[in-house]
Amino acid sequence: MIITLKKNTPKEEAQKIISAIEKKGLHVTVIEGTNYNVYGVVGDTTVLDEKAISANPFVDNVTRIAAPYKKANRLFHPDDSIIDVAGIKVGGQEDIVVIGGPCSVEDRLSLLELAKDVKQAGGCMLRGGAYKPRTSPYAFQGMGTTGIEWMCEAREQYGLPIVSELMSIDKMDEFEEHVDLIQVGARNMQNFDLLKVLGKSKKPVLLKRGLANTIEEWIMSAEYIMAGGNENVILCERGIRTFEKYTRNTLDLSVIPIIKQKSHLPIIIDPSHATGDWKLVESMSLAAIAAGADGLIIEVHNNPESAWSDGAQSLKPDKFKAVIEKGRQIAHVIGRGM
Ligand code: PEP
Ligand code: MN
Repeated sequence: MIITLKKNTPKEEAQKIISAIEKKGLHVTVIEGTNYNVYGVVGDTTVLDEKAISANPFVDNVTRIAAPYKKANRLFHPDDSIIDVAGIKVGGQEDIVVIGGPCSVEDRLSLLELAKDVKQAGGCMLRGGAYKPRTSPYAFQGMGTTGIEWMCEAREQYGLPIVSELMSIDKMDEFEEHVDLIQVGARNMQNFDLLKVLGKSKKPVLLKRGLANTIEEWIMSAEYIMAGGNENVILCERGIRTFEKYTRNTLDLSVIPIIKQKSHLPIIIDPSHATGDWKLVESMSLAAIAAGADGLIIEVHNNPESAWSDGAQSLKPDKFKAVIEKGRQIAHVIGRGM
């Protein structure tokens, strides 16, 4: 971190700033200039709050050199993290994973039928929301516990680990016991209390990027979970809000190489929520694989026209299968299995 003090800063005021920083275990080097005095701070600067330092009237400028995250930072963990989800490895040079399933769990039989299709198509995990974050309070809110029970039944029958969204802390015990990969939805990316509770668990977490969050904010949310002691985090890009209306969101594929550079955590892509249109899901899935994604999470429904949520972006099982078949060819070109 570089701190520049104003020229007229009294020596004792400068010393106060230096002492406060040194008390936190950091080292300060002074470069005396003609117009400014510059202070180079080295050590673990994640403990410093640059906004608080800037509040000092003698401070002219504060520039952070190192990222504010530690556990999620590639710098301190050069090797790719490989996250184990009930025996399925995600990240590194492991096979690209494909997660498929309905937006919402609706009824037992159609879920079991769909789980069979997901498995036959080559999917390796089953997704399904039992607690749904809906924009309207009058829209279907999910099957709750019954939905989780049906997901468990589908896992037993088809051997697919299950992925489902946890919306609130009070359901943590239920998810800890039954769900293999706990999804934090876009709307909860900065629900810090939820992130702290997940930090105490050992269950893998699928952390979706918020609707309008920067990459740094997203990694800081992963850092919350990791700082609590749970390093099993998989990031998921699901599109961000922009001015564009032809798609539900704008899929930011550039985050894949950026995340790979900044962090060691795996990243998967959700082309369904990113586009909102099943017709765009295949091309965006293939592009995501080409760009280095560690996996895909895709909404699949046997009868999208009558889905209780997100039918317009759901693939029928045969289309889901085609995505996997084409995806394998792209994966092969870039030296990954799928
Ligand atoms: C979902 O996965 O069904 C979902 C609600 O996703 P997101 O949080 O990305 O909108
Ligand atoms: Mn959905």
